[in-house]
Amino acid sequence: MTTSVVTGGAGFLGSHLCDLLLSKGHRVICVDNLETGSLTNVAHLRSDDFVFINHDVINHIDIAEPVDFVYHLASPASPIDYLRLPLATLKVGSYGTHNALGLAKNKRARFLLASTSEVYGDPAVHPQPEHYWGNVNPIGPRGVYDEAKRYAEALTMAYHRQQGVDTCIVRIFNTYGPRMRAFDGRAIPTFMRQAISNQPITVFGEGEQTRTFCYVSDLVAGLVKLAESGEHLPINIGNPNEFTIMELAETIIELLGSRSQIVKEELPVDDPQQRRPDISVAREILDWAPTIDLREGLTRVIVESPRETLLGRQASERAPLTAKR
Ligand code: NAD
Ligand code: UDP
Repeated sequence: MTTSVVTGGAGFLGSHLCDLLLSKGHRVICVDNLETGSLTNVAHLRSDDFVFINHDVINHIDIAEPVDFVYHLASPASPIDYLRLPLATLKVGSYGTHNALGLAKNKRARFLLASTSEVYGDPAVHPQPEHYWGNVNPIGPRGVYDEAKRYAEALTMAYHRQQGVDTCIVRIFNTYGPRMRAFDGRAIPTFMRQAISNQPITVFGEGEQTRTFCYVSDLVAGLVKLAESGEHLPINIGNPNEFTIMELAETIIELLGSRSQIVKEELPVDDPQQRRPDISVAREILDWAPTIDLREGLTRVIVESPRETLLGRQASERAPLTAKR
C-alpha cells in the first residue's frame, strides 16, 4: 500500500488532498496542529486508512511506519492569518520544512513543498513563468509569508542537491472551493459571506488589481500529478484566467442574486497589483491544465456549501479547536 503524509492536512487544500489520496487507495497520515485548520474538514474521513496526528511540525515529526510521499502543506496561508501569526509563519516555513524534509529523507519518500505565487511578490513580469525571480519586499508585513516560502524553496533544493532527497516544489496560485473559512479574509469567502447577507462588499483599493482563481479539485489533481512525476524544479499550478477584484465582486453578487453594494476600502500594504500563472511547464511536463472555470467553480461552492458555513455561523468557526483523535 502507498502511504502519504500530508502536513497541514486538516486545512482547506490539505483536506481535499487527503480526500483525493484516499480515493486513490493511499493510506493517509494527516499531521496538523489545527492552528488555522479544523477537525471538521476531516471529520468525514473515518477509515482505517486515515490517521490524524495533532502535532506542530516545527518540532521533530515522528512516524513509525514506512512512508512513500510527504506532502508538506502546513503553513498559515491567508493574509489575515500570517499577519496575525508572523513568527509561527516563519517558523513553519523554516523549522517545519526542515522537519518535513528530514522525514522524507529518513523514509526515502518523495517530498512535495507547497510553495506559493507569493514568491513572485508584486510581479514586474506578467504572466509569471517559473524562471522569474520575483519582486518581494522582505521587511513588509507580507514578507513573513513570502520569505518563509522562498527560504523553504531554497532548503528543499539544497536537500535535493546535497542530500539526494527526491523533492518537488509547487507554486500554488489563488485557489478556492468548499471548506474555505468564511472569516479567513480572502476575497472569495469574504465576498460570498457579504453577498449572502446583503452586506456591503469590501473591495480594497479601486479593485483594479488582478488575480486568477483555481478550483480546488483542479489544484489537488495537479499536486498529485507533480508528486508522481520525476520533476524537481518549481512548477506553477493555477488557473490562468485573470480577473480584476471588481469583476470578482460583481460575479459573486450576480451568482448569488445579492442586493449588496460594493464599497471601496484601503488597499493593504504590498498588495500585489497583478498575478497570473504561466502554466506552460505544467501543461508540458505534467499534462495538467485546469478544467473548471470561475463561474462554474463559484456555483459549485454555493451549491455544495451549507449556507451556515458560507456565513461562518458553524460552532467550529469561532470555538477553540482542542479535540484530538
Ligand atoms: P489552511 O490555513 O486552510 O491550511 C493550512 C493548514 O496547516 C491548517 O490546517 C493549519 O492548522 C496547518 N498548520 C499551520 N501551521 C502548522 C504547524 N506549525 N504544524 C502543523 N500544522 C500546521 O491553508 P490552505 O489554503 O489550505 O493552504 C495550504 C498550503 O497551500 C499552505 O502551505 C499555503 O501556503 C499553500 N498555498 C495555498 C494557496 C491558496 O490559495 N489556498 C495559495 C498558495 C499557496
Ligand atoms: N480583497 C478585497 N477585499 C477583501 C479581501 C480581499 O478587495 O475583503 C482583495 C485583496 O486586497 C487582494 C485580492 O482581493 O488584492 C485577493 O486577496 P486574497 O486575500 O484572496 O489573496 P492574495 O492577496 O493572497 O492573493
